[in-house]
This record gives sequence, structure tokens and C-alpha cells, in this order.
Amino acid sequence: MNNGYTFVDFDGVILDSEERMLERKNALGFHNHKDEREFNKYFEYTNFHPEEWNYIIREAKPINNSAEIIKKLEKMHKKIAILTKIHTLQEMKVKIEVIREKLNIYCPVIFVPPKIKKHQVIIPNHQLLIDDSEKNIENWIENGGVGLIFDSSINNNTKEKVKSLEFLLKR
Ligand SMILES: [Mg+2]
Repeated sequence: MNNGYTFVDFDGVILDSEERMLERKNALGFHNHKDEREFNKYFEYTNFHPEEWNYIIREAKPINNSAEIIKKLEKMHKKIAILTKIHTLQEMKVKIEVIREKLNIYCPVIFVPPKIKKHQVIIPNHQLLIDDSEKNIENWIENGGVGLIFDSSINNNTKEKVKSLEFLLKR
């Protein structure tokens, strides 16, 4: 591993907001999570119902102690940053409020706008990304990064997957 940053995804890694968003999307009748147009329609809906983000993000719970581990890494002066996709400005606002005021995490937070990939905002350059999206990790590695898929459902870490951020404390 080089001397760069470790980038950590937010939704589905730090908080369980990913599944909460899918739950809300589903409740509105958008059942096909493979159809990008459905996501666009749902995010459009949230522009008129910004309270959706309160349910999705403000009431979400940390996954496998992720928030506490990030705070420990900050205390250890590790170079860590959050790299997170956003779909609307209201989502961005709620996310930064929750990160700073509720979770008390103070590392850099880099937002990736709609239709842009994470590796376009941060040039991977051998740096590590931990993300629950296999597609994000695939793109990141293809563009020169080191990637690990976050999957809280596995029993043990593998070469490609980690179940928590705990291993970062021991590096
Ligand atoms: Mg995610």
C-alpha cells in the first residue's frame, strides 16, 4: 500500500442508508433496482419530498462499528477520507450534517455528483477504496486503484472482500 489516502464509501459501508433508500424507493412502487430510470424518478420525487433523506440518512445505523473505527483512525492520524455519491443537493446537505454533527467524523468528505464515477473525481493512483458496490471497485481498480468490496454479510475477510473496517486499525 502506498502513502496515499484510504477512501471509504458512505452508503452501505458507514451507514445502512443504501438499503433504507431501496426500501423507500420500493415503497413508492419503484421495484426494479436494475433500472436506472426508476432511480432517476425516485430521486426526482425526493426533490419535492426532502424528508425522504431524513429517513434514509438521519435515521440510518452504522454498519459493523464503521463510524467508531473511522474516529479511531482519525485519532491515529491516518489519511482517511469519505468518497460518496450524491443524487440531489438535499441529500448532500443531510449527509454532511449527519457526518459532522451526529457521527462527529471530521475527515475530508468528497462528493461525487450524478453521472460521474468515483475515479473521475479522485484519480485512484494506487490508493485504496472500500466500497459496497462491486461496480465501483471494478472501475476503481481498472483505473489504477486498489479496491476492496465491503460486505457485512461475510464471515471472514478474503483477498477481495472485507466485512468491516476493523483491518484498517491494524495496518
Ligand atoms: Mg455504497
